[in-house]
Amino acid sequence: MKIPYNKGRDRAPCPVRRAGPPARPVTEDRRRASVRASFPSAAAAFVCALLGSCAALSPIRLESEILGPTLLVVAGIHGDEPSGVEAARALAAGSPARRGRLLVLPEANPEARAAESRAAPGQGDLNRSFPGRRLGAPGERRAASLFRMIRTSRPDLVLDLHESDGTWAEGPGPFLVVPSLPRAAELALAMLNLPGMEGFSYTGGPPRGSLAAEISGRLAIPALVVEIPDSVPPSRRAQLHRAAVDAAMAVLGMMDTGEEGRIKPCR
Ligand SMILES: [Zn+2]
Repeated sequence: MKIPYNKGRDRAPCPVRRAGPPARPVTEDRRRASVRASFPSAAAAFVCALLGSCAALSPIRLESEILGPTLLVVAGIHGDEPSGVEAARALAAGSPARRGRLLVLPEANPEARAAESRAAPGQGDLNRSFPGRRLGAPGERRAASLFRMIRTSRPDLVLDLHESDGTWAEGPGPFLVVPSLPRAAELALAMLNLPGMEGFSYTGGPPRGSLAAEISGRLAIPALVVEIPDSVPPSRRAQLHRAAVDAAMAVLGMMDTGEEGRIKPCR
């Protein structure tokens, strides 16, 4: 299904932006995207050590050299859900999109990941802590840091990768959790129509304090939670996460080098 840009009746208009540099013509050379990775600085590492918890995490940046949308993939908010981390690491190590920018944060909660527990030791659930507090407890600082990074980078879509223990009661298959933001629903429905997404369903209502609920509600940035039930074999979970990421890149037009994206971003 192809969705015309900006024709939905309930579609919020794109914000007015200043004109950027003209797009360069597409050449075969420019199809070969470059990879630039950025990591937390030494200063940030020092602050982490000082505070006892790393409050500053930088996503890995995968630039395609062709102007286009930005997709942010977040994984590892819950430390006992390794398939999203696995998928995000593989994504960061592989080929970037043909157009636009991919930001990947494979481990959004390193202390929880190290403990292989839902939350970092001594902390509450990070995914109920957004938008966080800069001077709060370690988990609140981590949430505030992630929230600030997203507010600054202004991605066109955020995918938050999770595993589900059945509390959503959505059946045996994977599903997307869609916040009440028209653009998020539009992107989710377009994703569900793509090859590789046949087994996915969707539901609404990411909980208050979750990354998806707060950045869509407070920043109007569409965010989708990708939930893979733990009834799915572990070997299959990372593949389904990757299928959702590929579908997101496709609907944003990041796999096209010409003008024909399935849904063109507000840029
Ligand atoms: Zn989770």
